[in-house]
Amino acid sequence: MEEWMKPGSMRDRFHGVLLGTAMGDALGMPVEGAPMDAIQERFGELREMKEARLGRGTVTDDTHMTLALAEALASTPDAVDLDVVADRFAARFRPERGYGGNARVILSEIRSGIPWRDAVERHRLPGGSWANGAAMRVAPVALAFLGRRDRVADAAVAQAKVTGHEHPVGTDGARLQALAVHSAVSLGDPLEPLPFVEELERHGEPWHPEVARALRWVRTHLDAEPEEAARNLGTGARASQSVPAALWAFLSVEGGAQESVVRAVNLGGDTDTVGAMAGALAGGANGASAFPSSWMEALEGGSLGADGLRAAADALYRTGTGRSDAR
Ligand SMILES: [Mg+2]
Repeated sequence: MEEWMKPGSMRDRFHGVLLGTAMGDALGMPVEGAPMDAIQERFGELREMKEARLGRGTVTDDTHMTLALAEALASTPDAVDLDVVADRFAARFRPERGYGGNARVILSEIRSGIPWRDAVERHRLPGGSWANGAAMRVAPVALAFLGRRDRVADAAVAQAKVTGHEHPVGTDGARLQALAVHSAVSLGDPLEPLPFVEELERHGEPWHPEVARALRWVRTHLDAEPEEAARNLGTGARASQSVPAALWAFLSVEGGAQESVVRAVNLGGDTDTVGAMAGALAGGANGASAFPSSWMEALEGGSLGADGLRAAADALYRTGTGRSDAR
């Protein structure tokens, strides 16, 4: 096997970010919205892909938007061109894949030819959206600007504009997830959870108070029980809940990529998105090869599934100008 294909290699970690997103999304989708105890009652611990609305192993908006953002970033090396991002979001938009109400309206209009800025303006929520829509798809910016954290943070906030996620909770959620994926990919496995959170807290300052509080909780409760984490952090669509919840699931688990994603999904709530975000983190640190073959086999293929994600990961790997700086 060539060096760059090896498990845990940088290329494997690029693949891990995108395929990890998809696997967390697909694992969590059948129980989206279910509280923790309902999942427990039904599955014990949900560890394998289950039959779902669109079939076992199918992905949702989280994966499609991540794919679209990856493609946009790969096609404009060293830049975030929001017109290109909007075009790719529209091209990959499949309304039946669980898009949130406002994003669905905005993307429908963009696809019908309305300039994205006009569509966002028309449907902007008061103060911008605080939901996790900008965070769930943000992981590719960590790959496109690997080795340059300030660019990662700026790109995370910029891409949030295309769907009107401009509330500081929405943008800080995107920034946190992007910086966390960046650290995960840069450090690789094994990483040390406590310094990992401390570094995020420090580097990202100032955080919105809700995000700052959640980060503090994550740092001081890395050994907590999942029930306690779900209760204290929350797992709803508000970005200050679900993004730190995914980070906690990633860092609180010993024993690799699968366990992080399993823990994330079993917290309940916005399970596909929390799973997708934890999947990006775990895949970024461990590589795509670290996920179980049963997941990889179940995962939807095709240009909007695993095949498209692999191609986008390779395109970003080739064009990610910062990667030579990374370890
Ligand atoms: Mg979804």
